[in-house]
Amino acid sequence: MMKFGVLALQGAFRKHKLMLEHCGVKAIEVKTAEELDDVDGLVIPGGESTTIGKMMVDWGLLGKIQTRAAAGMAIYGTCAGMILLAKDIVGSDQPRLGLMDVSVRRNAFGRQRESFEAGLSVTAFGNSPVRAVFIRAPFIEKAGAAVKVMATVDQNIVIARQGNMLVTAFHPELTKDDRIHKYFINMVQGKA
Ligand code: GLN
Repeated sequence: MMKFGVLALQGAFRKHKLMLEHCGVKAIEVKTAEELDDVDGLVIPGGESTTIGKMMVDWGLLGKIQTRAAAGMAIYGTCAGMILLAKDIVGSDQPRLGLMDVSVRRNAFGRQRESFEAGLSVTAFGNSPVRAVFIRAPFIEKAGAAVKVMATVDQNIVIARQGNMLVTAFHPELTKDDRIHKYFINMVQGKA
């Protein structure tokens, strides 16, 4: 049976594990290289991207995740997780995986909209809008040709996929809407 990992160094990892379990798959917290070896897909949660990035380096996980991703392991990054997957982070040289050909801006929605909810229209998920909770969220400013844009807010990219990598600027694990997690599970199972 396939096993999913949620990177559990810092941030909002617990609810991702619960959401994956609710979707019917086995999920574990990943803090070590051994645990990483054991999973077929990895979720990188929201939190503080500078802290998570530094801990990935300190705990010897950064290179290991890059190697697994190059070998085909699927990764889903939410919020800080999306920042960590980006090649370019506007104005920052913080540690990152740099696996996705996008440029992200941190805290991109500005003070007026530090945290907000929106209903997103996502073609891949049918007619009913995806409930999205944004918390000091980034967005993707620029995306390379290999990146498939799946949803935007005011023309800014908030869901995207590049091959085995999926990112959302928001936190679906805080809602009852399980369609993003199900989509990711299908990716890992080679069905999406
Ligand atoms: N603003 C955070 C960062 O830049 C991300 C916020 C989140 O993950 N909810 O790391």
